[in-house]
Amino acid sequence: MSDLPHPTAPRPTARATYRLAPVLRPRGAHRRLAGWLERSPRALRVFTTSERRSKERLFGCRMCGQCALPATGYACPMTCPKQLRNGPCGGVSPLGECEVYPGERCVWLIAHERAESAGRAADLARLQRPVDHRLAGTSSWVSYWLGRDEHLWTGDDGLAAPPAVHRPSVDLGLPRVRR
Ligand code: SF4
Repeated sequence: MSDLPHPTAPRPTARATYRLAPVLRPRGAHRRLAGWLERSPRALRVFTTSERRSKERLFGCRMCGQCALPATGYACPMTCPKQLRNGPCGGVSPLGECEVYPGERCVWLIAHERAESAGRAADLARLQRPVDHRLAGTSSWVSYWLGRDEHLWTGDDGLAAPPAVHRPSVDLGLPRVRR
């Protein structure tokens, strides 16, 4: 059990993450950088290591390679010991404690509190597709900038607006998803 992830509260406040996230929004420079990184394996390794270190420290990131943070109040769902991507399990205690680690707060409660404080609670109702484990360890920023993670969420969840920092590729002229 000790190898399982622990629910992790992000270090930055919800307000700070929602404010800063648009800095990473795909734009020409990001797209060019991502393309160059993909052609430069050594640079991509350095970049991916930097991403891992920073996101691990800030969010407890596990480098799943398909980042759900914009839809989860920037609380990483992969820090749930069961790695659930669509909300908490049925074992959360009445006090909001994790079933696997009693005494630790369920990361999905943390996610809800953070998203709600930013007026983005509806994002948590998104139906997330299963994690593609082939992407483990890859840079989710590069995927994001190249428009490859546009379909992390299903389109039939009844929610009109995408998460705050996600925009359809048609707005950006990005290449279609490569899966
Ligand atoms: S890339 Fe995956 S593991 Fe890392 S913060 Fe995002 S959702 Fe969590």
